[in-house]
Amino acid sequence: MKIVVTGGAGFLGSHMVDYLLKKSDNKDEIYVIDNLQTGSLVNLKHLSENPNVHFIQADVINALSDERITSLEGIGQIYHMACAASPPHYQKDPIHTTMTCVQGTYNFLTLATKWNARLLITSTSEVYGDPAINPQVETYWGNVNCTGTRSCYDEGKRAAETLCFDFNRTKNTQVRVARIFNTYGPRMNLTDGRIISNFVYQALKGINITVYGTGKQTRSFCYVSDQIEGLHTLMNQDVTIGPVNIGNPEEYTVLEMAEKIREMIGATESNQLVFHELPQDDPKVRRPDITKAKTLLGWSPKVALHEGISLTIADFSRRIKEEADLLNL
Ligand code: UDP
Repeated sequence: MKIVVTGGAGFLGSHMVDYLLKKSDNKDEIYVIDNLQTGSLVNLKHLSENPNVHFIQADVINALSDERITSLEGIGQIYHMACAASPPHYQKDPIHTTMTCVQGTYNFLTLATKWNARLLITSTSEVYGDPAINPQVETYWGNVNCTGTRSCYDEGKRAAETLCFDFNRTKNTQVRVARIFNTYGPRMNLTDGRIISNFVYQALKGINITVYGTGKQTRSFCYVSDQIEGLHTLMNQDVTIGPVNIGNPEEYTVLEMAEKIREMIGATESNQLVFHELPQDDPKVRRPDITKAKTLLGWSPKVALHEGISLTIADFSRRIKEEADLLNL
């Protein structure tokens, strides 16, 4: 099958490309579309000789040229994953973030409709904002500030979901909407500012661990291979259903996560916890209700936190060492 993966040079996108190739015995033909804003070709380097992987450097915000649309004739599926996802990254150029979510999704829904392809978007637990209920079930409408510093992402993804279901209702476009909860693993950008990447990087570098606020806020962490399997299962489920939470319901406070990572890496005097101001509108709790994914998709996460963090630490250690070796050249 011809498959488009927008954001395919990013953390999740590149894992999706690997998974699709593996699942199809290298038969799928993959078109990666990425502007390399937060993604990197390093994530696809191992595929550079693969004739079934085509890389197109483009921003999803821009309308696809007629030539590009024609070249994508016959596509069966679009994984629309392009968007900065770490708060410091998506807040750096918030207007671009909103446009990525809204215009970008519009452009690829239009492409999906034209070639009768199925489109999955990676929406987010951020559509629930600072939730008033815990865990969050898909029927909960959320509690989102529409004018704050996180709004570009939260409201952008909410509008993207709206577009998906409106295309489905008015044009019969086949859509799948996954609400991704905090996902981590190898290939995360070393300094992308998110909790697991920051804590692992800081602990390995032997520098202080930055806890925002009191650290009593919670998140639930899903290992990347589980996330990718969940997205793939949702894409290949036969009918359009409403949004589906994909995440791991095991919930931890930020402090628990800091202690866990310090313990696993071996805490020293030089990596103490330091407390910083809590970012604006930082959700106090987050935990997915995954009943829908379990019952409709038969999917649930398998990788335990300890195992996932170990694999992440190993990957970060290797890349930090490579970086250091390069600097010593
Ligand atoms: N966080 C933290 N220290 C860091 C990075 C993040 O305490 O160095 C906190 C952040 O305030 C939030 C949680 O960890 O409460 C998860 O943050 P992340 O940026 O990973 O993603 P979010 O779930 O907020 O989108």
